[in-house]
Amino acid sequence: RSSLYRSAPLAGPGVPVNQPAYINAVARLETEVAAEALLDALQAIEARHGRVRGEHWGPRTLDLDLLLYGDQRIDTARLQVPHPGLAARNFVLRPLAEIAPHLEIPGLGPLRDLLARCPPAGLERLPDDKCTL
Ligand code: ATP
Ligand code: CA
Ligand code: CA
Repeated sequence: RSSLYRSAPLAGPGVPVNQPAYINAVARLETEVAAEALLDALQAIEARHGRVRGEHWGPRTLDLDLLLYGDQRIDTARLQVPHPGLAARNFVLRPLAEIAPHLEIPGLGPLRDLLARCPPAGLERLPDDKCTL
């Protein structure tokens, strides 16, 4: 897993304002679980952590997104992979690059190129001694 990163909440049309900062991280795992079943499992973990599906992009206790699934591209009613927000979000690209610096993102190219095009504003890596995962 990556370090933890504190980020300012997303801003823009449709995003609720005055939210607290978010804590982000990226983890890699090996699994034989199919992608949609993995999404079910992630949502079950969110529910166990008290997540209530309220306002889209609003504050939540836990948000587990499936960023990548090997080198596959998936586009179904409930699952898009690579995650559609990935290329525009420094709080995804930075921690991802920490654990997989040479990654090629299916359909989007080298991770390091995406990172170079994504402004670093509002993102802070937290020192390891503040990480208790
Ligand atoms: P964003 O997806 O922009 O980060 P969000 O995480 O706040 O926003 P949610 O309300 O958690 O959005 O999820 C909305 C729906 O997105 C989920 O019910 C799920 O079906 C769908 N979804 C599509 N692709 C993915 C993915 N790669 N990972 C997680 N959820 C996905
Ligand atoms: Ca999300
Ligand atoms: Ca989500």
